Amino acid sequence: MHIEVTSGVMATLCAEADRAAPEECCGLLLGRGGPGGEGRIEMALPAANVSDRPRLRFEIDPAALLAAHKAARAGGPRVLGYYHSHPTGHPVPSAIDCEHSTGDLRIWAIIASGQVAFWRDSGKGFSELTCRMVGEDRADHI
Ligand SMILES: [Zn+2]
Repeated sequence: MHIEVTSGVMATLCAEADRAAPEECCGLLLGRGGPGGEGRIEMALPAANVSDRPRLRFEIDPAALLAAHKAARAGGPRVLGYYHSHPTGHPVPSAIDCEHSTGDLRIWAIIASGQVAFWRDSGKGFSELTCRMVGEDRADHI
């Protein structure tokens, strides 16, 4: 199983992680396909980290989550997953992340040390996804 991600999304993820440090950034991954199947992440939508311990964990602003799911139901881009950063760690799911695994098959992007890794919430923890970077394909949207 592999996913595609646009170069613009990769740039946004790294910029958001830098901006939020030393706190964790977080947000939504939007695009086409999935969840569970192959997909293309075309947009990273930053959200507020409303955790009371934002240096150690993340909690996506519920209003942003609700709005994204509502937009998807109305024909907008699909919610393929979520992203957050590990300001002092590695781009692998932490013990806390594993506690929050729900098995909804969504994609988790984790940004750390200038790297972005993609994981699938498989319900038995996370499995790493291979990811192919693609250019912004504007003709696709017409
Ligand atoms: Zn984490």
